[in-house]
Amino acid sequence: MQIGYFGNHGGRFVPETIMNAINELESAYNTYKDDPSFQSELCALLDECANRPSKLYHAKRMSADLGVQVYLKREDLNHTGSHKINNVLGQILLAKKMGKTRIIAETGAGQHGVASATGAALLGLECEIFMGEEDAKRQALNVYRMRLLGAKVHLVSSGTATLKDAVSEALREWSGRMHDTHYLIGSAVGPHPFPTIVRDLQSVISLESRAQILESTGRLPDMVVACVGGGSNAIGSFHHFIGDSSVRLIGCEAAGRGVNTPENAATITTGRMGIFHGMKSYFCQDEQGQIAPVYSISAGLDYPGVGPEHAYLHDIKRAEFVPITDDEAVDAFEYLSKIEGIIPAIESAHAIAYVKKTAKTLPKDSLILVTLSGRGDKDCAAMARYKGEDIYE
Ligand SMILES: *Cc1c(COP(=O)(O)O)cnc(C)c1O
Repeated sequence: MQIGYFGNHGGRFVPETIMNAINELESAYNTYKDDPSFQSELCALLDECANRPSKLYHAKRMSADLGVQVYLKREDLNHTGSHKINNVLGQILLAKKMGKTRIIAETGAGQHGVASATGAALLGLECEIFMGEEDAKRQALNVYRMRLLGAKVHLVSSGTATLKDAVSEALREWSGRMHDTHYLIGSAVGPHPFPTIVRDLQSVISLESRAQILESTGRLPDMVVACVGGGSNAIGSFHHFIGDSSVRLIGCEAAGRGVNTPENAATITTGRMGIFHGMKSYFCQDEQGQIAPVYSISAGLDYPGVGPEHAYLHDIKRAEFVPITDDEAVDAFEYLSKIEGIIPAIESAHAIAYVKKTAKTLPKDSLILVTLSGRGDKDCAAMARYKGEDIYE
């Protein structure tokens, strides 16, 4: 396979101005990724600051209710409340090794922005976050958090003033200031080598979960399920299972108000091949091939593209991608809260919803490993609103 490609997807479609920074990043990553002292520093950070390894949890009441055995990989228990910190700590450590003193990052819901601001505070780097103006209005608490953690937040008003515009703005900023700045991309997307770097850093999820489930049950799961925005928690959850052909890999995309309406973000289900944000992959597009406005109740899944490795796993039929609607996700949000005492992020609730909906069709006691990518405290006010109740944040 061509370097930087996953089948027909991936590559590096960037303006000349960014090439230097990308080349520098690629060669630094190639140097450090197999460097034992870099890896042991990263391990120590993940352990001391992010609370790794994360638990594998047998959801006993849910299992009894559904007739299948459900195990949850608890990324919700990480510091800052999601899997995002795994990628952030790795990239910030790499940036420091490269002599960078400043990181920039995009954020949609604010989860990656908060994780980045946290990592920068921890390791003593300057941090500036780009966030769509619309998103900032919806996520005022996270804007406050980022500022509290010492980051400068830039509101982006171009385009639809959401995540895709924040990514574009961060790429623009990077091209103007590469000498001291690393662009800390938050998902397994963008030009090569970002999808590979983010995949490697998130693969700690399946490195741990594969060993944990073998230890707990003595066998491999029948199915690994994760939600897909850009695809970082999903690719991290799949990575060490890709070679296990008996394990089905399921990515849950946001179907919003339905895949037959324009209001969804189910990229693999409804999108077409295109080039955007430096990569060739599937994207939600209008008839002219312009990036379509997307929608999901879950701000973390509200992205019009998908990481190139997922597009490839779909093409070769190694992974299956399924749409989950807002209604199904909200129902699963309430279900997991009541049955296990765990309030999931609304993103992660998409994965729970899939299990809940398909359990009946599976052989009894099928072993299902679900990545709980984050915790749901951030979503409570929005969920209450969805149900017609107004609470103060
Ligand atoms: C950001 C986020 C996602 C979506 O991003 P991926 O890169 O697809 O993992 C999913 N869950 C949570 C909790 C998030 O914060």
